[in-house]
Amino acid sequence: MNTIQHWIDGNTVPGTATQPVFNPATGQERAKVVLGDAATVDIAVRAATKAFETWSESSLTQRTQVMFNLRQLLVEHEEELGRIISAEHGKTVDDARGEIIRGREVVEFACGLGDILKGSFSDQVSRGIDVHDFRQPLGVVAGITPFNFPAMVPLWMHPIAIATGNTFILKPSERDPSAANFVAQLYQQAGLPDGVFNVVHGGKPTVDAILTHPGVEAVSFVGSTPIAKYVHEKATSEGKRVQALGGAKNHAVVLPDADLEFAANHITAGAYGSAGERCMALSVAIAVGDAADNLVGVLERKAREVKVGPGDQPGTDMGPLVTKTAQERVENAVTTAHAQGATVIVDGRGLKIDGHENGFFTGPSLLDHVTTDMDAYQQELFGPVLAIVRVDTLDEAIDVINANPYGNGTALFTASGEAARRFQRRVNVGMIGVNVPVPVPMSYYSFGGWKDSLIGDSPIHGPEGIRFYTRPKVITTRWPHTEQHTGAGFNFPTSN
Ligand code: NAD
Repeated sequence: MNTIQHWIDGNTVPGTATQPVFNPATGQERAKVVLGDAATVDIAVRAATKAFETWSESSLTQRTQVMFNLRQLLVEHEEELGRIISAEHGKTVDDARGEIIRGREVVEFACGLGDILKGSFSDQVSRGIDVHDFRQPLGVVAGITPFNFPAMVPLWMHPIAIATGNTFILKPSERDPSAANFVAQLYQQAGLPDGVFNVVHGGKPTVDAILTHPGVEAVSFVGSTPIAKYVHEKATSEGKRVQALGGAKNHAVVLPDADLEFAANHITAGAYGSAGERCMALSVAIAVGDAADNLVGVLERKAREVKVGPGDQPGTDMGPLVTKTAQERVENAVTTAHAQGATVIVDGRGLKIDGHENGFFTGPSLLDHVTTDMDAYQQELFGPVLAIVRVDTLDEAIDVINANPYGNGTALFTASGEAARRFQRRVNVGMIGVNVPVPVPMSYYSFGGWKDSLIGDSPIHGPEGIRFYTRPKVITTRWPHTEQHTGAGFNFPTSN
């Protein structure tokens, strides 16, 4: 059986401890992945430290060229990488291609490195004195990423870190680790020097070794909120720069003036796409006023039309969940919701797919009359479960969203510009869609939620990514003419 190994300094590196990697559509083990420890992390940090000496001195032209090459390779290998992701994550191949394309946009942003790294210059701030600034890389930086976007989320990090002159250690999810090694090989083909991009596999011990290694300058984390809080606290206490994005509970608000067919189409895709395993998935629909009954009717019809099956089968809308544990957790949540008083309009529990009886499938579930005290509302279920909450006004809907501990994404469906403006100004959420269900920002904006969806203060990629992976220097310069020589001044320097 294939063993997925670490990738350090341009080569695979074996390990002793391993863990199985499953194909969620069949329920079968498809590979093993090695699990790193403190010694493995140390080897990777040493390789990345050595590579930093030359990579941080490389020209912007050389770095840009690597990014252009990587972009082209990601285009050429999109189908192959999409199939690798689908086989370990379970999402459809087309959905996996979508995440590769969105991740590739960050590489495209990094291709504009020459422009985005330009500093500023102020002439003659005082007589004979100029000021300019520029930004320099941090050193060795690390990324710790979740299972649900094994290509895109790491791509939010490493192109920017590497383009700005850092060297990178990726610790991907141990549930779908192959995409990381595939991208490592693409970087090598793109001309990236060995040691600049490294992959260390593993779970908590590997993460802890990264968080405490003195050679790691910064940590980017994306995953669940409890681990984001842990990573943020531990790594900042070790003196590292940290960006830590957490979990989500995203609400779609539907006003009575919305086009219900349009809203329901997009809410269905936002709730059940990728089996609800997206940090921007819509897991709650808030129906305002008399939108509710009609909306539930259309959502029910659409949920029943979702085609569930293996991710590599053409025509599939939604694949299995990532693990058996996830499947059981989601199905138990539907059982609990029913027991707590929700109406189960569509019940996805117990779905069996012909020829894939051991796969981790569950069907779309639609719950009506969910209230904010129920577990199905309070927990991030991370599965294909859409909860309908009914309220009377837009302001009540905004209050519900603002009382929720998460603040990643939200969407409003309406025909009213006034309502949309009120919503976007008052709602305490980082990424907002107006008639757009999954408002993931383009790579030249930054991605990040509010409240428990982002611990600390640093969103990811775009301008915030540049800021995170570099630190500024400001230089004040004088080239005195001999006639301008004056004696020493002992007062604090001011300009004149
Ligand atoms: P997770 O928190 O379980 O794992 C994320 C990473 O942390 C993995 O690399 C994992 O190996 C590591 N990890 C897990 N347990 C750990 C521990 N106890 N100590 C140290 N490290 C540990 O998340 P997941 O299940 O892989 O991914 C799903 C979660 O990620 C959801 O909560 C989802 O909302 C969130 N997510 C958020 C965003 C965002 O942009 N805000 C994007 C994608 C996913």
